[in-house]
Amino acid sequence: MTIGRFGLRRRQYDFPPFRPPSEANSLLLRVTRGCPWNRCTFCSMYKGIKFERRPIDEILEDISMAKELYRDQVRTVFIGDSNSLVLKAEEWAIILKALYDSFPHIERVTSYARAKTIAKKPKEDLQKIFEAGLNRLHVGLETGDRDLLKEIDKGATPEEMIEAGKKAKEAGFEYSLYVLLGIGGEDRWEQHARGTADVLNQIDPHFIRVRTFIPQPHSELYDAMEEGRFIPASPETILKETRLLLEKLQVTSYFLSDHISNLVPLHGKLPETKEEMIRLIDEVLKELQRDDHLREELEARRHLTNL
Ligand code: SF4
Repeated sequence: MTIGRFGLRRRQYDFPPFRPPSEANSLLLRVTRGCPWNRCTFCSMYKGIKFERRPIDEILEDISMAKELYRDQVRTVFIGDSNSLVLKAEEWAIILKALYDSFPHIERVTSYARAKTIAKKPKEDLQKIFEAGLNRLHVGLETGDRDLLKEIDKGATPEEMIEAGKKAKEAGFEYSLYVLLGIGGEDRWEQHARGTADVLNQIDPHFIRVRTFIPQPHSELYDAMEEGRFIPASPETILKETRLLLEKLQVTSYFLSDHISNLVPLHGKLPETKEEMIRLIDEVLKELQRDDHLREELEARRHLTNL
């Protein structure tokens, strides 16, 4: 249970609307609102929210409110919203000092970030932010394929994705990359898998987190699907894509499918568990050929919303 969900809500604490599944037990702290990019064609997360930097005083007030109730319980903190790395290193230093002073048992502070922002930030600033106590970054790679990155308007090229990853790792961060299975639709699964493996191999992030693309209402790709311009990948295609991605990966990352949208639970350290994961995919692929119920069950996940 997210820390403070009940106690702080009553006090008008400003909760970020989204957090990664791995931050389920964290204190959530909102330092910005919305997404400064807000253009990715698959994303509806922050569509109705105007991007804002919260005034530092307001953030410090929230920290102090949380401290009153949860001083000794907080072990991990997640910073929202989608790209708070746009803040200056000096602002991060103030926020992080207040957090570490208020919660003596903090083990990790994590934030979402955009690759382009990391690529543009001076390395010394990244180092300062890391040294002040932000330890982990969650970044959306989605795909490593150049054409697909452009089409989904991710706002970063494969080269910028690689530059950002290398820079963040050199600055000391634990680096976690999201991959969107099925973002190439039914037709381009192979180029998606190959391009993504190429980028991941050059970064070798600490974590690769896959989630299955489910078109969300109020996003451009949802409209494209409704108009027949985007054909969502079938369960078989997504499994073949995942298999090819795993096969091509030459990394030492943890591979995690810690999301409700995923078709097969795949978790493991690479390269050690690669063969085991590929075997599991092959079993499900075989099962799909003879079990219509399984197919219906997997197809039904396409209708999940509000992820
Ligand atoms: S995917 Fe991330 S960067 Fe893209 S619009 Fe959504 S929140 Fe912003």
